[in-house]
Amino acid sequence: MPDLSPGVASAISPLVRRIVAPNAGPMTGAGSNTYLVGVDEIVVVDPGPDLASHLDSIAGCGGDRIRWIVCTHTHQDHSPGVAGLKKRTGAEVLAFDSRDGLEIDTPMADGDVIEATEFVLRAIHTPGHASNHLCFLLEQERMLFSGDHIMEGSTVVIAPPDGDMRAYLASLERLKGIRRRLKSIAPGHGHLIEDPLAKIDEYVTHRLEREAQVLSALEAGPTTIDAIVTALYPGLHDELVPRAAQSVWAHLRKLVDDGLAVGTKPDGKWAAA
Ligand SMILES: [Zn+2]
Repeated sequence: MPDLSPGVASAISPLVRRIVAPNAGPMTGAGSNTYLVGVDEIVVVDPGPDLASHLDSIAGCGGDRIRWIVCTHTHQDHSPGVAGLKKRTGAEVLAFDSRDGLEIDTPMADGDVIEATEFVLRAIHTPGHASNHLCFLLEQERMLFSGDHIMEGSTVVIAPPDGDMRAYLASLERLKGIRRRLKSIAPGHGHLIEDPLAKIDEYVTHRLEREAQVLSALEAGPTTIDAIVTALYPGLHDELVPRAAQSVWAHLRKLVDDGLAVGTKPDGKWAAA
């Protein structure tokens, strides 16, 4: 398995190279993955953070063959490098929308494609982690660039209100629907995932188990997000408590939408419906 050292271009398939950004951390794993898709004409998927050494590595690897830059979503470890890479290459910038400091040239919606001489890259709208999240399917290799919709080695955070658990699960189900078109998943963090369906199933199962735990906590009587976090995540490190609280909040909002719970304020009381 090619390693995840930053700054090194690793070929992960005939058409795809990966360069990891030097931004390893608790939320980013080994760092953000930037992918270069194509040989004669290149799409860069997620330039990552605005780090000159990383952008120089991408430009050095793709040179003037970089024609397009796409972003899976506008979080700080994925899209701030766009402006610097555009300056270095003059490439066209495409994403779902201009947001969080990202300026795009062309919007991409569900089903939109980039047609290069050697391949087609198709956008799939997958809201959940972020409302503007896109995955990209490289049809020739049946490889899905999954951004932070699916990661390898770290947990996807669903942080309301832009993060939405109900949308997230629907987006995972949507990928199951195209499973015959998937051979591998190239995530925004971590190694290539060679068994896409097992990974997607694992993700759905994990979230539904957590949802059932949150629901049974409510069924014991009206309660708060803090109390649920204490009950469901025993011994959790203080630093990770806010993330767990966001996740519980996201589950509660889904349960309300499903008609199984009542509550509105993150710092208020929540109860079973
Ligand atoms: Zn990320």
